[in-house]
Formats: sequence, structure tokens, C-alpha cells
Amino acid sequence: MAIDIAPPKLKVAVVGGGPGGLATVIALSKVPNIEVVLYEKDKILREVGAGINIDQNTWNVLELLGVAQSLTTGHPTTTVLNFDGRNGEELSRRELNETGKRTRIRTQRTELQSALLQHVKPNFIHYGKKLSALHDLGSSGIRLDFTDGSSSTADLVVGADGIRSVVRDAPWPTYPLKYTGTTIWRALLSRDELRSLDPRFDITGWWHLPTSHVYFSPVSEGLSEIAAREHQDPEIHAASKSIWGVPVTNESVESHFSGYLPQVQEALRRIPDGAWREFAAFAGPELSSLTAWDDKIALVGDASHALSGAFGSGAGFAMEDGWVLAQSLAYFGNDLGKALPLFNKIRLPYYARMYAHLAEMSFKRAEKLRDLGTPSDGDKIKAKVIGDGGKDMKWMYENNIGKVWEETIRTLACEPIDSGVGSPVESLPT
Ligand SMILES: Cc1cc2nc3c(=O)[nH]c(=O)nc-3n(C[C@H](O)[C@H](O)[C@H](O)COP(=O)(O)OP(=O)(O)OC[C@H]3O[C@@H](n4cnc5c(N)ncnc54)[C@H](O)[C@@H]3O)c2cc1C
Repeated sequence: MAIDIAPPKLKVAVVGGGPGGLATVIALSKVPNIEVVLYEKDKILREVGAGINIDQNTWNVLELLGVAQSLTTGHPTTTVLNFDGRNGEELSRRELNETGKRTRIRTQRTELQSALLQHVKPNFIHYGKKLSALHDLGSSGIRLDFTDGSSSTADLVVGADGIRSVVRDAPWPTYPLKYTGTTIWRALLSRDELRSLDPRFDITGWWHLPTSHVYFSPVSEGLSEIAAREHQDPEIHAASKSIWGVPVTNESVESHFSGYLPQVQEALRRIPDGAWREFAAFAGPELSSLTAWDDKIALVGDASHALSGAFGSGAGFAMEDGWVLAQSLAYFGNDLGKALPLFNKIRLPYYARMYAHLAEMSFKRAEKLRDLGTPSDGDKIKAKVIGDGGKDMKWMYENNIGKVWEETIRTLACEPIDSGVGSPVESLPT
């Protein structure tokens, strides 16, 4: 009598419970023969920060994950404005033509998190587990050590632990993260209160000075977000910057924005004491691979591309990563040696394009200022606005990761990604 012996399950440990980690767990839990757990350092999932954009790319992946219907609140951001922060002159207006099925919204970060959490079985998440180190066990997988003294093993470790990734540090111990010079202060305030100061604060818009801006956007029926951002010389200020999402006093925030219109300054003053959070933006270089240790490590989200929210869509990118990783594993029947190169093949060029875009924009902005000779503050403000908005970014904000996946597997037969990649398993999970 033939005995059916089921192959052993692939043990996957996801480190980090941000949008990338949660999406990875949701996607992996639909792949046959995978046992997945998520380790999160905090005792509960916290989501610091205020608002988050949900563009078409993010809606697309939320639909693929089956989460889109659970995200029910948010403010449509179809009109986007830029102003001179000194005098309120409108510098640009963009009416976003909706080409996709769902409207672009700005919502609270906690809303996205709770939508994702509704789709994760609670027993998949282990809280209070801060990863301290990884050890390569060769053919026996990877050992994960936690700061509480415990440890665990896995066949695949997914680094979803954000920009200061401990998982990334294992294969790339000298990865250099640097303060970019940009600091962001974020808080929420009632829409009515902001509207009473200036009705334009109720439309998604940026108010600029040469080295700073103040951003207003509704995030729900009753609440708006204020995100105030300043760029300082990183050489001078780097030493005091390592913080992320910590409370700061109103005075310290207001001191950076004294050159703005009185109503902008008043809006900043209206933030309740203790509500401001400060975020110092750090960034690191492009990686040559998103996988390591003989296909036993994969990086997703901010861990894989340390860009500090440069495009305001990093949660979407992180979730796309998790979804692609799960499809790749499903496609190759959990064969890591084939699935991880495929994941890399799809996601690495995407991040390379982002780094190239940022380098190009920074070059163009510098060139524009050089052409202006001795630019006035007004010139510098205009250069900022034009420099920020001039490029077609549909490849990013309308990215349809489901289509990218389909196109990739259609061409796989003609262009094998490396000699080790063979045929897919017979049937794919839907
Ligand atoms: C100012 C700003 C504005 C932004 N605006 C937007 C926006 O509008 N839209 C958008 O899509 N994105 C936006 N982003 C980017 C977005 O916030 C990030 O790209 C996104 O949160 C990345 O998700 P992630 O899951 O990779 O990492 P994170 O969200 O950073 O989550 C990492 C998780 O890992 C946990 N962790 C860390 N270290 C360990 C460890 N050693 N062990 C265990 N757990 C650990 C953390 O506690 C956390 O839960 C913005 C970013 C910034 C800075």
C-alpha cells in the first residue's frame, strides 16, 4: 500500500509588524505548505505618525491581499495644491484624473494597520520579540535570537523590520544609514479648527519656504493632518538626530516655521501640547540584492530600500514586496532557490528605478538653481515646486503589481532568471 508522505512545511519567520510584515503574513498564509509566524518587538502594534496616502498602486495590492474592503475611511485627495508659504500665492494646482477603480485617499496610519490586522490570525503574531541577531545554520536554516534570551529557527527569514533592519544587518553589517538633513513633525488637528483659520487648509496642499514646507491634508470626516518638514545641513545636525516618532514640544516645532503666513503659524500653535511627533529622515544606498544567505533571507519594505518615505508610498511598496514574495514561493512550490531569485528579479529593478529617479531629481533641482545665478527666495520656492511635480510618476503610483506578476511569469519561459530556475508547480493557489 502506497503511503502519502506530505513534504515538510516551509518555516517562514517574518520579523516586524508594519505594513510590509502584516501583508507578507497575509499573503503567505494563503500559500500551501507554509508555516508562518511574525515576530514584533513591541508589546502591541503601534503606528506612529499621522496620515498615509493610499494611491492606486496601494489599492491594487490591498485588493490582491483581500484587504481593500476593510479600509473604509479616508479623505479623497483628488486636488493637490502648492503655495508660497510667505504670501499664500498659489503656485500649482493638480486635479488628479482617476484612472483606476478606487479613489486616491489620505487616511490615518492606524486605519491601514487595523484593516491589515483584520486579516491576520492573532496566533500568527508573537509580540515583545525583538530580534537581536541571526545565525546561518547552513542547510538547517537560520536561527533567530531575541533580546529576551529566547531563540527560534526558520527556513526563511523575511526582514520586514523597517529602515533600521536587524535582518539586513546580518548579511550587510556595514550598511550605512545617514541622516538626510530632513526632519518631519507630524500631528492631527480638527478639520473645523483648521478651516476656520483658512479654508485652503482643508485641501491637500503644501505651503513652501526655500528649505521647508508645511503640509495640510484631511484624513477623515473630522480630522486633518499637519506635516511640517525642514531641511537642515546634515553635517551640522546629524549628531542630534536618531529619533523616530518621539514627542517634542510645540515651541521647538514652531521655532522652525517663523517665516510663514500668520495663519500657517497659528495652525501649528493650535496643536495640543504633547501631540507633535518628530521624525528624523535617514536613508541608505541601494542594495545589490534583496535576498541573501543562499536564499534564506528576503528583505521587504523599508528594510529593502532605506528611502525614509521619499515617495510617500512606502507602505504600498512594502505590501507589494510581501505579495510578490508569496506568489514566487507558490509558483515554485516553496523552492527557495528558485522563488527568491524570482522575487529579486521583480522587485530589485523597481527599487533601482526609485534611486535613479531621486538622483535625477536632485541633479535637476541643483541645475535649475545654478541657472538662476543668485536666486531670490521666490525663485527657490518655485524651483522646489516645479522640481517636485514635473515628472510622470504613473509607473509608481499606478503600478499594478498583479499585472507585473502576470507579465513576468509569461516571459519566464523565454528568459530564465538563472540556470537554477526551472518549471513552476502544476497548480497555483488563487
Ligand atoms: C514622513 C513620512 C511620510 C510617509 N508617508 C507615507 C504615505 O503617505 N504613504 C505610504 O505608503 N508610505 C508613507 N511613508 C513610508 C511608510 O511609512 C514606510 O515605507 C512603511 O511604514 C514601511 O513599512 P515596513 O513594514 O517596511 O516598516 P515599518 O512600518 O517601519 O515597520 C517595521 C516594524 O518592525 C518592527 N521592528 C523593528 N525592529 C525590530 C526588531 N529588531 N525585531 C522585531 N521587530 C522589529 C517595528 O516595531 C515595526 O512594527 C512615509 C514615511 C515617512 C517617514
